Amino acid sequence: MIIAQILKSKGRGVMTAAPADTLQEITLRLASRKIGAIVILENGNVAGIISERDIIRLIAEHGPKALDMQAKDGMTRNVISCTRDCTLDEVMETMTKGRFRHVPVMEDGALVGIISIGDVVKHHISEVELEVTAMRDYLATG
Ligand code: AMP
Repeated sequence: MIIAQILKSKGRGVMTAAPADTLQEITLRLASRKIGAIVILENGNVAGIISERDIIRLIAEHGPKALDMQAKDGMTRNVISCTRDCTLDEVMETMTKGRFRHVPVMEDGALVGIISIGDVVKHHISEVELEVTAMRDYLATG
């Protein structure tokens, strides 16, 4: 399965924020959308990513005043992305090696989607179930 197929079913919408947005604003957006990460865009380019894990770390380091900090002061700048023609297995490996749960999808320099660990697990299970069904059919029919 390739990422384009997953985007087709989940949609291309990606929650984004600006580098100057505060962590308070970002936290509200993560909570209201029930998502775990937000991509930071600057002039249409991906400048970074902030996940709930970054926010927890910053609160641990700075206390409640961390929420007044700006996205640019807490985001991960070196964002690893994939393209629509990457396979599910490749993205799974990227997440495992990089120890993160979100991978933005880029096409010609533009952000066209985001894949979360939840999407990966859901589609991986579907793939495995399909394989099991095919195997059972094969064994049943000889
Ligand atoms: P997550 O597991 O997605 O909550 O992220 C764990 C850590 O990895 C956080 O510091 C994120 O900012 C960072 N991170 C998340 N996604 C990516 C990515 N695609 N590329 C680089 N860093 C990331």
